[in-house]
Amino acid sequence: MQDAKALQVAVVGTGYVGLGTAVMLAYLGHHVTGVDVDQAKIDMLTRGELPIYEPYLDELLRESAPRLRWTTDYASAIPNADVIFICVGTPPLPSGQPNLAYVAEAAQSIARHLNGKVQVVVNKSTVPIGTGDWVARILEENAVDYHANRYLVVSNPEFLREGTALHDSLYPDRIVLGSDSPEAIERMAELYEPLLSQDFAAPVSVPRPDCYTQPALVKTSLSSAEMIKYAANAFLALKISFANEIAGLCERVDADIQEVTRGIGYDQRIGPHFLGAGAGWGGSCFGKDTAALISIGHEYGYEMPILAAAIEINQRQRQLVIAKLQQHLHRLKGKRVAVLGMAFKPNTDDLRDAPAHDCIARLIELGAQVVAHDPIAMPRARHEWRHLRYQEAESAEAALRGADAAILMTEWDDYRRIDWESALRGMRHPLVIDTRRVIGHFGGAGIVEQIGKRPASRVA
Ligand code: NAD
Repeated sequence: MQDAKALQVAVVGTGYVGLGTAVMLAYLGHHVTGVDVDQAKIDMLTRGELPIYEPYLDELLRESAPRLRWTTDYASAIPNADVIFICVGTPPLPSGQPNLAYVAEAAQSIARHLNGKVQVVVNKSTVPIGTGDWVARILEENAVDYHANRYLVVSNPEFLREGTALHDSLYPDRIVLGSDSPEAIERMAELYEPLLSQDFAAPVSVPRPDCYTQPALVKTSLSSAEMIKYAANAFLALKISFANEIAGLCERVDADIQEVTRGIGYDQRIGPHFLGAGAGWGGSCFGKDTAALISIGHEYGYEMPILAAAIEINQRQRQLVIAKLQQHLHRLKGKRVAVLGMAFKPNTDDLRDAPAHDCIARLIELGAQVVAHDPIAMPRARHEWRHLRYQEAESAEAALRGADAAILMTEWDDYRRIDWESALRGMRHPLVIDTRRVIGHFGGAGIVEQIGKRPASRVA
């Protein structure tokens, strides 16, 4: 616990972002109430159980437990709060625009319990530019006893990555605070003060990374902060699509994308991150946020061709995986295909927009028998992917046994530890499409195809 001036905080929405935010702020010394409409989630949290998988969350939750409370009751969380975070989902509509219904509901519920003193309402959900003003208007229209200039709205976009969420929250590169109210910015800076301080005492459970540098505090207008979040995600998505586009050419000219990205990544103007070629990006944010940015552009009659191309390339990568299988096996009908990894990336159980979903769906459509495995996400998939007819395997090795081919979709460490030589020997047809460069060199018999590298590493 830090020596912060403790504030009373309410966090509305206890999903991947809200939960991490609540636990991190409680660690900093604030008194935090997490509010959610999902009773089952709140019951689990009250029992000290976690509704999601995220490394270190359990440990930090226990360390911060005395300052944390969970409820479905806005009345017990909002009136007391100095700062109220909105962390509800903004999933995409078919039009590409984000669905703001949850933000609207949350803002209405908050408004009904505001106390008439100065309270800061912070939007952490990713929302289109202008939503901060829209939230302010909802507060104004729904507050029982509205006082102008008492409910201050801030945009404080979240940049955490699932799988490293607590590291990202405790040791961020920057904290962006957007508001038209200097008073609101000041209160937010107070809230985050321990993170910004040189003598921030790192929690035992989430040690400070070696490459740690103090976070920058970026103060902006409300709309700039909202734009920063979209621009950041769009740029990262673009980097991956760029690497995938170059990867396609690498396959044709006999270059290796991994060597190429290593070579360009040392250039500080480019950087080494988010240049992984493979089955393309997934997860709840990149697809949704790039589509949202394009649709915001449309509202203003403004085309965004670079982003549109990045999305198209991403779709192409997902299809490429199946095309590579077809090149080797020809017909997939009746073939047994092992899919290793279902979560959109390792160290999370999040399945939203996971490339593995599309891959499994397409394989089933083509008549293949799919045997899937994921070290963590299988129970969630049983529920969220119940529309897909695949078999579960109790281990990666079991999935591979007797398979006509395997596709490695998520770079879980468990898959790096597989004895690939013996696993390939146990397959009916020893072929692995390794979309994440998990398999190193091996001396056994089989074919390992990797994205962005040609020819396929054939080992006789
Ligand atoms: P999530 O779906 O995991 O969680 C949202 C939570 O809000 C759920 O628990 C839901 O029950 C709750 N909720 C919905 N309506 C509510 C209401 N009216 N009152 C109280 N609770 C309500 O979503 P998430 O992944 O945590 O994302 C939240 C926001 O943060 C999104 O806008 C997302 O784009 C953004 N974001 C997500 C990530 C990420 O990696 N997941 C990273 C950065 C930003």
